[in-house]
Amino acid sequence: MSGDVSPASIFSLNALFDNPLFAGGIGLASLGAAAAFARKGVLIAAGAARRRLLVNVEISKQDPAYPWILAWLSTPRPTQGFIASRLTRIHNLSVTTATASKGPAVGGPPSAHFFLQPGYGRHIVKFRDAFIAVNREKHNTANMNTGEPHEIVQLTTLWAHRHIFEQVFSEAHALAAKANEGKTVVYSARGMEWATLGEPRKKRPLESVILDEGVKDSIVSDVKDFLLRQQWYVDRGIPYRRGYLLFGPPGSGKSSFIQSLAGELDFGVAMINLSEMGMTDDKLAYLLTKLPKRTLLLLEDADAAFTNRRQRDADGYSGASVTFSGLLNALDGIAAGEERLAFLTTNHIDRLDPALIRPGRVDMMMRIGEATRYQASQMWDRFYGDVDKDHTSRERFLVRLDELGLFGQNADGTASHRHTSTAAIQGLFLFNKSDMHGAINMAEGLVPRKFQA
Ligand code: ADP
Repeated sequence: MSGDVSPASIFSLNALFDNPLFAGGIGLASLGAAAAFARKGVLIAAGAARRRLLVNVEISKQDPAYPWILAWLSTPRPTQGFIASRLTRIHNLSVTTATASKGPAVGGPPSAHFFLQPGYGRHIVKFRDAFIAVNREKHNTANMNTGEPHEIVQLTTLWAHRHIFEQVFSEAHALAAKANEGKTVVYSARGMEWATLGEPRKKRPLESVILDEGVKDSIVSDVKDFLLRQQWYVDRGIPYRRGYLLFGPPGSGKSSFIQSLAGELDFGVAMINLSEMGMTDDKLAYLLTKLPKRTLLLLEDADAAFTNRRQRDADGYSGASVTFSGLLNALDGIAAGEERLAFLTTNHIDRLDPALIRPGRVDMMMRIGEATRYQASQMWDRFYGDVDKDHTSRERFLVRLDELGLFGQNADGTASHRHTSTAAIQGLFLFNKSDMHGAINMAEGLVPRKFQA
């Protein structure tokens, strides 16, 4: 009968188990299996315990909180009686060096600051009464937008201490805000993302940029008025956007003004040069959808887009950079942030296209031109006001600029085509920092080269 075990086979099985060698082998094998099983069980239990007892927070390098957390990990922490860095418990540090181009003294070496950060790998830090395991990792994969390797920092603590993460993040954020106090953060496009351009810069005071009479006030009050009217836009369903076009020759203070305005409003500046190689329509549109919060958008060299349109109309070639329709689409795009304060600058207003002047694209245009008598006089006061108290030297300087025909009129009353820029006047004053008479004697240098004998 099939399936039946014959007495003969039972006998041979019994014989096998009676064999001490065989029984020992089985014993060892089952011990091994039990150990493997137990190990797996422990791992599963540990995993489960880990999931139940520990809590993780992962911050990727793309997140704005990433540098804050690294900076927070590097800050001194008060301990009994003395100050020690959180990093005293971290044995693997990495250093970031920032050098300033201007040394403390002229011709001196550039100044350098070193920032210690936790290096890659695992570290333990103590915060209040909790221990936090920090794991900083660099991955093999790269961010497709920037080409940089993915990087994360992972914080782990006990489930019971999970609330400290909130405190860690708010401390880290407050620390970052404090570090940027009195500074203007400048962002530029790196690949398809915004990245801070160098260290935050000291705020430039609005008074240090001297525009022609009334120009600065009219822009500043328009911007401030816009910032107070968000609800007005929301109530009417209008995108909360305003655009300004500043045009005029190079060196008239356009960029400096925008930078100082950002400082005044406590905004950052997100800067794109439209003539930059590799800046395409798609990239521009994408970047505008991800504009960092509380920033003025600065689109420099807006004429590059006008030139591209002409080129395309003329020979069907769209050029390497942004096209005019690309610029308009990016400015109007539904995906483009609903809130935006944009400044466009150009040195070539003659290339301007009227289609740009639309609410939300460009609402206000302002010429920032060559230096006027008013500006020359104000700049003089900023440099030499404390030594030239009765203004006699200032008057001599202005008369000299008149003689040189730099204010639109020649000495004989005919129109002059000679002009100078505020950047050139600043250069003259910087050269003669403590010698106002030297500035007057060298004023001829302000005459543009093509008019010089
Ligand atoms: P633009 O953007 O018009 O080309 P910048 O703002 O880059 O000009 O100015 C170049 C340099 O000249 C800067 O160092 C700036 O400080 C100085 N400068 C130019 N115009 C002015 C101005 N109107 N007031 C103060 N500084 C000025």
